[in-house]
Amino acid sequence: MSFIPAIEQKSIAEQAAFQWEKLGPALEYLLQHSPYYRRMFGEQQIDVKALRSWEDFARVPTTSKEALQQYNNDFLCVAPKAVREYMSTSGTLGRPVTIALTQNDLLRLAYNEYLSFHCIEATDEDIFQLMLTLDRQFMAGVAYYSGLSLLGAASIRTGPGLPAMQWDTIRQMKTTGLVAVPSFLLKLIAHAKANDFPAGSGTVKKVLAIGESLRDEELQPNALARQIAAEWDVQLYSTYAATELQTAFTECRAGQGGHHHPELVVVELLDDRGQPVAPGEKGEVTITTLGVEGMPLLRYRTGDMCRGYYEPCSCGRHTMRLGPVLGRKQQMIKFKGTTLYPPAIFDVLNGVPQIQEYVIEISTGADGQDELAIYLHCDMEPAAGDELLRPLFSHRWRVVPRLHYRSAEAIRQLQYPGHNRKPVKLIDLRHIS
Ligand SMILES: [Zn+2]
Repeated sequence: MSFIPAIEQKSIAEQAAFQWEKLGPALEYLLQHSPYYRRMFGEQQIDVKALRSWEDFARVPTTSKEALQQYNNDFLCVAPKAVREYMSTSGTLGRPVTIALTQNDLLRLAYNEYLSFHCIEATDEDIFQLMLTLDRQFMAGVAYYSGLSLLGAASIRTGPGLPAMQWDTIRQMKTTGLVAVPSFLLKLIAHAKANDFPAGSGTVKKVLAIGESLRDEELQPNALARQIAAEWDVQLYSTYAATELQTAFTECRAGQGGHHHPELVVVELLDDRGQPVAPGEKGEVTITTLGVEGMPLLRYRTGDMCRGYYEPCSCGRHTMRLGPVLGRKQQMIKFKGTTLYPPAIFDVLNGVPQIQEYVIEISTGADGQDELAIYLHCDMEPAAGDELLRPLFSHRWRVVPRLHYRSAEAIRQLQYPGHNRKPVKLIDLRHIS
């Protein structure tokens, strides 16, 4: 039986009241210990003790990613001696940010993933293969590892290694679950095919799929999820997380968005003017952490555009769910009069089996407008590629990006500049001066 905290079975209104009780001490803590927020409260004349309602709270200024980058050290609320680990964001969107965690923060992180593994119906009988980086200051690896430990399940830290090694380990250890990037599952499937065994013949029953979305705007399986499901009968669970939040939102079997855990964060979805969007509308995920000691955040704007779902879930949890990231606010593309976000383009490209690898490039044209180009490696001649791909774009958006056909090696060089942990699929040249 999955463990569901009592508060997650209460109504949304009861959860809000529960969070309000926790918010007062959290704000008081920031005032006492956070150089950044103490300064902000002073400058903006915010009296945290005078906040009486969520409406009052909604008037507190938000915190931007840029502020966290620029004043990173001022967010630290504890003496350096109390820090147990320094983790860092991947830096795919600008300068990496260091996140300092205390012992309690590490326990909170473990508890969060313990709840995530309960969402995906994992038990202490499970053996999970962790196909993600556990070093390089990467938070997710440590979070899943410690969550599994708290659950009493077994971990195998294979990391993001080659498919042959992963399959050998799966067979040898009778692995029952994976934590992996969805596109890597396609590589596992390809390896299984090339070696004449069905991917579904093994012991793996469930996958916690990180880093890439599995759902489209209607919460239906996207091209990537459909491709995996066609070849491998395995339960896929999507998740949303960001390092700064020290919190993940993970789907249950219903697959209707990642579950919010009200004991860990306050979630708001805001429009361009910083006002809450109507339920079901797309808004910027804005987070206030609860129970974080090292680097707590107040109304932190993630830049991720999502929808929230508030009706009770069939799994027994009554918490709101966060839909897939529909785009990053700063990655919004205005191309020839059409507004689009990279994930929707990824979805189109992922749906074409002939495409092996790709990179999307956004730049500013001579006229100051956004330009969109796609570099891809595929099984087709350029003419055949154009014939297949151009209608896919024009049908959906009425505009077609420039398509550049390249060798596998050329794409690999674009995807791994420097020492990236993850392949780069989007190059945004617009904000580089
Ligand atoms: Zn659920």
